[in-house]
Amino acid sequence: MNLSEEINKIPIIKAITSAAEENHVEVFMVGGIVRDILLKRNRNDLDFLVIGNSLEFAEKVAKKLGISKVTKYKNFGTAHFKYGELNIEFVGARKESYNRNSRKPVVENGTFEDDIRRRDFTINAMAISLNKNSFGELIDSFNGYQDLLNKLIRTPLDPFQTFDDDPLRIMRAFRFAAQLEFDVDESILKAAKEMKERLRIVSQERITDEFIKILASPKPSIGLKLLFDTEVLEIIFPEIHNLAGVDQRQDYHHKDVFLHTLIVVDNISQVTDNVWLRFAALVHDIAKPQTKKFVEGIGWTFHGHEELGARMMKNIFHRMKLPMNKLEYVEKLIRLHLRPIALAKEEVTDSAIRRLIVQAGEDLQDLITLCRADITSKNPQKVEKYLANYEAVMKKVLEVREKDKLRAFQSPVRGEEIMRICNLKPSKKVGEIKKAIEEAILDGIIENNYEAALEYLMRIKDDYLKDDEKK
Ligand code: ATP
Ligand code: MG
Repeated sequence: MNLSEEINKIPIIKAITSAAEENHVEVFMVGGIVRDILLKRNRNDLDFLVIGNSLEFAEKVAKKLGISKVTKYKNFGTAHFKYGELNIEFVGARKESYNRNSRKPVVENGTFEDDIRRRDFTINAMAISLNKNSFGELIDSFNGYQDLLNKLIRTPLDPFQTFDDDPLRIMRAFRFAAQLEFDVDESILKAAKEMKERLRIVSQERITDEFIKILASPKPSIGLKLLFDTEVLEIIFPEIHNLAGVDQRQDYHHKDVFLHTLIVVDNISQVTDNVWLRFAALVHDIAKPQTKKFVEGIGWTFHGHEELGARMMKNIFHRMKLPMNKLEYVEKLIRLHLRPIALAKEEVTDSAIRRLIVQAGEDLQDLITLCRADITSKNPQKVEKYLANYEAVMKKVLEVREKDKLRAFQSPVRGEEIMRICNLKPSKKVGEIKKAIEEAILDGIIENNYEAALEYLMRIKDDYLKDDEKK
C-alpha cells in the first residue's frame, strides 16, 4: 500500500525527506501516527524513526523549518520540537532487552526491524517509508493493517513475553481497545489475567495515566470490562472490582453494583468530557458493599453509602496519585448524589433547596448530570418520571435563587418615601412596612417594580398605622 498522497499533506514532510537525502539517513514515520492516518483520525503527535543519529537529524530538519528550539534527550536518543500545533519527535532505532525487576529496558542502538519488533501492538508497529526509493510505502511486518480492519488489538510477539517485558502494556491494550472501540485478542486476555501481578512493578503514575485515558474514552465500559474480566481491576482499583456480584436473600436481591456503575459511566460519558465528573460516576456507589444490610420486610439497604463513599476518596486519591485538587469535587458529588431525588417531593422547603444550592455550589449542574446518568432503569415510564423529578428540583432551585436574588435587593419604594407618605419618623415601623413590601414581592403577590410596590404600600399602610394607634 502506498500512502504518499496522505503524507504529502503533512507540512514538514518535504523538510524531512530532503534532510534525509542530504545526510544519507533512512527515516520512517512510525507508531500512532501511522495507525491514525489509516484510521483517518486527526492527530498532532508525529513520530519519526531515524536509522542513524536522530539528534543530529532533528537539528537539521529544525534548521530547514526555521526552528531553533529543539529539546534533546541524549539518553533516550530522542529529540522533540513543536511546529505550529504539531509535536514532532525523532527517535533513533533501538533494541531493547528487559530485566525482570523493572519495566525499564536496557537500550542499545538497533536496526529498523529491532525497533519495530519492540513495539506493543500490531496496529502500533507499522511504519511508512520516507526514503526516496520507497516513499509512502506502508511497512507492516505484523499484519497491523488487517488488525485495524478487524478492529483487533494484538501483540506482534507472544503476549506473555510482551507483558512480561513491560506489564504496562496490559493497561495500554485495554486503553487502546476503549479509545478505538476495538476488541482485544483472546491471547491478550489470557496473558493479562496470568501476568496481572506483574503490574506491581509499574509506577502508579503510569497505571493511573492509562486508567484515566480509559475513563476519557468514548465508551469507558469497554476498558473497564476488560480490566474486570482479566482481574486486573482487583490490582489497580480493588474497590471498584468489589462492586461486582449480587446477593439474594428470600425474594430480595439487589442489582449488581458494578454493572450498574458501568452503565452510569457510559451514560455520563455521552454528555460530558469532564473526566472528573466521569470519575465521580465511577465511584458514586463505591461504599455500597460496606454499607449493605438486609432488613427484614424491606430488603437490601445501603444506608450512608454516600457519606462513607465520600470519605473513602482521600485514601484512594493518595494511593492512585490522582490530582488532589479534584478530591473535593469528587467527594462533594458522591456525598450529594442522593440529595436531588430526596428533594423532588412536593412539600420540600425553600431552606432544603437552599442548603443544596449552598453545598453543591458551582457544581450543582454537574451533580444533576450525575443524577440523570444514575438512572439505569429499563422501564421507560420510570425513567421519564425520574427525569421529571430532577427537572422539578432544578425548577425549585431556580425559584429559590430568584427569590434570594430579590432578597438581596431592597423594596423599590425606599424608606424615605415610606416615611413621607405615612408621615413617620425614622422608626421600626418604617422597616416593618418596607419588609412587608419585600415579602409581597418574594411571595409573588406583587411584581418587583416601583408602581406595584407603591400601590401595595398605599393598600397596606392604614393597617400598619392603625395598628400603631391602638398601642
Ligand atoms: P497516543 O495517541 O495515545 O499517543 P501512541 O500510539 O502514539 O498513542 P504512545 O504512548 O505515544 O502511543 O507511543 C508511541 C509509540 O511507541 C506506540 O505507537 C508504540 O509503537 C510505541 N510504544 C509506546 N509505549 C510502548 C510500550 N510500553 N511498549 C512498546 N511499545 C510502546
Ligand atoms: Mg503518542
